[in-house]
Amino acid sequence: LAARTSDEALRLRASAVIPGGMWGHQRAAAVPHRYPQFFVGGKGCRVSDVDGNSYIDFMCSWGPIVLGHQNEAVNRAAYGQIEQGDCLNGPTRHAVELAELLVETIPHAAWALFQKNGTDATTACVTIARAATGRRKIVVAKGAYHGAVPWCSPSLVGVTQEDRAHIIEFAFNNITSLREAVDRAGSDLAGILVSSFRHDISRTLEMPTPEFAQACRDLCDAADAMLILDDVRAGFRLHLGGSWEVYGVQPDLSAWSKAIANGWPLAAVTGGESVRDAASRVFVTGSFWYAGAPMVAAIETIRQLHALDAPEYLRRMGQRLRDGLAERASRHGFEIIQSGPPQMPLVQFAGDDDFAIGEAFCREALRQGIYLHPRHNMFLSTAHGQADIDEALDAADKAFAALARRT
Ligand code: PMP
Repeated sequence: LAARTSDEALRLRASAVIPGGMWGHQRAAAVPHRYPQFFVGGKGCRVSDVDGNSYIDFMCSWGPIVLGHQNEAVNRAAYGQIEQGDCLNGPTRHAVELAELLVETIPHAAWALFQKNGTDATTACVTIARAATGRRKIVVAKGAYHGAVPWCSPSLVGVTQEDRAHIIEFAFNNITSLREAVDRAGSDLAGILVSSFRHDISRTLEMPTPEFAQACRDLCDAADAMLILDDVRAGFRLHLGGSWEVYGVQPDLSAWSKAIANGWPLAAVTGGESVRDAASRVFVTGSFWYAGAPMVAAIETIRQLHALDAPEYLRRMGQRLRDGLAERASRHGFEIIQSGPPQMPLVQFAGDDDFAIGEAFCREALRQGIYLHPRHNMFLSTAHGQADIDEALDAADKAFAALARRT
């Protein structure tokens, strides 16, 4: 079979030496048909694939890129640390400085611990909550993504029932269901683990109601259990102090990653005084968890996010995109459903239960030079300027027109 593109050639080679051709959420099979699998680079709000195509990027590397690809000040800071030494016998002073910056930035935080991936952070939160309470049960929303290890993986392949023995599910935003799950945990409730908003794949996004967020807090308080906010995906995009600041609800523990260092590998757990002792007693570690460069990158990233008032900027750009898409969709006779916070949007077509129209639209949009996702929430970065949004809207207009001709 002869490959017609560099992407196809790499896919063929990958299928021989990488199980399934690629693993996890960036596996070839999960990418919409005719989407590129392999990329060469990015700059600002644009990414380039291995065949030389460039796209206005609305996935931002699935979240990490919040200041745009290759942010110069972030990379300069990180490269400076790499030249001195990144992976050493112990952490650099930047671990302390970053922890101080997070404690200043995040109202509930009295301390911070660092890891590499979001899964490391959510898993550490669960471990710390169990250590703090001496209990086992963790209550989580059904269908929520908290990582890819046996206690939380969305796949049951290779996972045992025992791995899930102490996980109890409830329906997001449903206080009755939450209360039932907490009752089932009884005196063994260690904590409620909840995402900033409902962002399950292939489903309309849903913000928490203020009442639901407050109920999570109240039920934890009544049971002396820990409220854990999984801010891995939404953190630093909705509010720099934590996504539930807008509801006035503070968690005991939060998991952060993705946007924390603009693409440099880092995750964090933050927590309050009540869990400081437990956090000092658990054993959580990793060979690369102390590396200096990503922490330097995080300090520069968070400084820029503050200086730009990034959540508000992203909200405005996201709203411009949302309003423009609504107008263009209706111009071409399509009814679209736009959900989620403007900073992390999802676009669906009414009645498109199998996402066939959404995928066809995204394919047309890709041809017109914008990289969208039909099923997963998308992400904006501060490198998306008004002119980029308007250029994306022109491309979307052509994609709607092409779609209209086909249906
Ligand atoms: N929690 C949430 C809400 C996430 O979105 C993700 C990643 N998509 C994770 C946890 C896991 O993070 P990672 O893939 O970095 O392990």
